[in-house]
Amino acid sequence: MLRENGEGKWIIFAPSIAPYMKKHNFFAGPAILPAPVLEQAAAAVSDFEGMGLSILEISHRSPQFVAVLNEAEALVRELLGVSDDFAVLFLTGGASSQFFVSAMNLLNEDQTAGYIDTGAWSAKAIKEAKNFGGVNVLASSKDGNYNYIPENIEIPSGLQYVHLTANNTIFGTQFAEFPETDAPLVADMSSEIFSRRLPMEKFGLIYAGAQKNMGPAGVTLAIVRKDLLGKVKRTLPTMLDYRTHIAKQSSFNTPPVFPIYVSMLTMRWVKAQGGVEAMEKHNADKAQLLYDEIDRNPKFRGTVANKASRSLMNVTFEPVDEADAQPFLDACEAAGCVGVKGHRSVGGFRASIYNSMPKSSVQALVDVMKSF
Ligand SMILES: *Cc1c(COP(=O)(O)O)cnc(C)c1O
Repeated sequence: MLRENGEGKWIIFAPSIAPYMKKHNFFAGPAILPAPVLEQAAAAVSDFEGMGLSILEISHRSPQFVAVLNEAEALVRELLGVSDDFAVLFLTGGASSQFFVSAMNLLNEDQTAGYIDTGAWSAKAIKEAKNFGGVNVLASSKDGNYNYIPENIEIPSGLQYVHLTANNTIFGTQFAEFPETDAPLVADMSSEIFSRRLPMEKFGLIYAGAQKNMGPAGVTLAIVRKDLLGKVKRTLPTMLDYRTHIAKQSSFNTPPVFPIYVSMLTMRWVKAQGGVEAMEKHNADKAQLLYDEIDRNPKFRGTVANKASRSLMNVTFEPVDEADAQPFLDACEAAGCVGVKGHRSVGGFRASIYNSMPKSSVQALVDVMKSF
């Protein structure tokens, strides 16, 4: 913040983080970020690295920002164990653009990719991929309003890749294990990136919109196996060709400077907490606290009955008596627990408990449930 010092001079003033800490933020996305990250981001808007300039007004080609980009890439590689066989890209257009960009880059018209349909985001990915090649829907949980993850999926050989949504933000389901396939997996990890360790050898492409578990809206992470590229026959628009962004280290055009910076700060924070291994334990612990209360409390029931399908990121539940819905949301609000209302296509409640969510906030919600 800039403040006038009383002598006609403007001085830089770093705001306090206190206002951010007042509420327990259960929103699904854009979502909670660690308090120290918000504090550092706010300070960088005033004065970035002592430059006397805001991060919002410096060149994306300045050494200071290039250092941010390099550190962001290095942190992705370190946190997830990403080898040099993969490129790490910071793109725009959201995860929704990756639905078609992935197919455009990886699937020829005369080839087929497998898709697993576990929710609204999967369905959108399927719709887009059909414009570029054959789509074989290998399994779907649509029959149960997407309240489970299909098991023992039969995956034929000869597929170009197999696409799945790792965590279904809306429906509260998550792949606990990734299926065995000959083909590389293409995974939408928007709502779970950095929440657990990954078997990188199974993946050809991972993409994630930042605004759930990694940073603010505006940047999309893509981790792509380089040997899969350059094989499609179609002409790719320059901006939609992964190779363009690989060649220019995500700076072919102006990258989303601030979202990348805040994502980098969040990754630093994840690393400082002990990395994704520590996140995994922390997330399992928080989710258990909440699911245990859902299963114990006679006023509530989980919308995902099969425990193996339950998401550790988005916990969906509903009132046993529909008349309790609004009073419960009111009780949450009164206790400072915000964003608990479920997605309109599922109803009920959804508590998004991403990496940055402290256990104390989950406990606050559990306390509301207990006394309800
Ligand atoms: C939010 C979300 C998306 C959409 O991301 P945008 O960045 O808004 O395009 C896609 N997939 C999943 C799993 C999501 O949670």
